[in-house]
Amino acid sequence: MQQEARLVTVDRAWSGRWHGPSVVRVSPAAVHLVGAAGPEHADLPHLPGTLFSPFTDSHVHLGLVEPAQLARGGVGRVLDLGWSPDVAALWPERGRVDPGWPEVQVAGGLLCPPDGYPSRAGWAPDDASVVVADAADAERAVVRMHDLGASVVKLTLNADAGPVFDDDVLRAIATAAERVGLLTVAHVQGPGQVRRALDAGLLRFAHTPFSELLPDDLLDRAADGTWISTLDIHRADPDAGDDGSAGSRPASPVQEVAIANLRGFRDRGGHVLYGTDLGNGDLPVGVNERELRALQRVGLDRDALLTALGSDDSLDAGHDGAHWTPRASWVPQPPPDDERDDPAWLARASVLTASTLQELLP
Ligand SMILES: [Zn+2]
Repeated sequence: MQQEARLVTVDRAWSGRWHGPSVVRVSPAAVHLVGAAGPEHADLPHLPGTLFSPFTDSHVHLGLVEPAQLARGGVGRVLDLGWSPDVAALWPERGRVDPGWPEVQVAGGLLCPPDGYPSRAGWAPDDASVVVADAADAERAVVRMHDLGASVVKLTLNADAGPVFDDDVLRAIATAAERVGLLTVAHVQGPGQVRRALDAGLLRFAHTPFSELLPDDLLDRAADGTWISTLDIHRADPDAGDDGSAGSRPASPVQEVAIANLRGFRDRGGHVLYGTDLGNGDLPVGVNERELRALQRVGLDRDALLTALGSDDSLDAGHDGAHWTPRASWVPQPPPDDERDDPAWLARASVLTASTLQELLP
């Protein structure tokens, strides 16, 4: 069905900053802000609530969830951090043409040493582990991911689950990625591994470090980089439900370590992105209220939460933090008076496209 572009008004919008009542143009190609709404727009159909540039989960495994459910849960954009490369290579195109999907960027496979994580992890298909034995392998693997359409190179440095790369191979991966113009994202786990990653020039982490409380000198060095939050995955009791009682639940000791590290990282100017490791563990498919609550414990206020949920400028050269695509995230309710209620408010988001608008405003 071919849909026309439509103009609607909304009560407010967020695109890296707040806008009041706004006119929005919605077409199958793009949702974007036209400008402020005035009396001359009174005849346009009105969509109540707040429209946001699409909420992004910067750490998912789409192979383990139903992608359309993510969009229904308010997530309009994802970065997939590891799956069978030949399968994952098909997702960005699917995310472009299928309005029921989120927009997708992928890493492809997970570069790891022989027998290294996730070779023996139950969640990953065998071919998701791209084995890199030496510097020449590193070059080949990075070029392969690049040619498959990857937006980042994912590598693992997990000393808790097998052997890890030596320093030479780590640096070879970093160098190869830089040469083809891709950012690296490292899964860093186990005592001492954060220092090794930083020594190799790896600054983007798939998880807030949780294996040890990081000393000041490491936090100082890390703060030039970007950490994807993934705090909720550590929570104490995965069976306690998603009913809103999570705020009073004690966090796990591992989560406390991660929260303390993320606080120190952020205090020094480190860049925090919202991400959940969706697909691993018992996590809601969509905006995760508990992840947002954990980020509030780190110290993020409303605007900081929204910034973390926004697009990653460094993956979007030319964008300005206001990445609008054929999708926007939409919450029909007004922002709560008390910012402590923001996680529940934002978790009511769904993704707005030309198709869903057609259902809302026939
Ligand atoms: Zn992951």
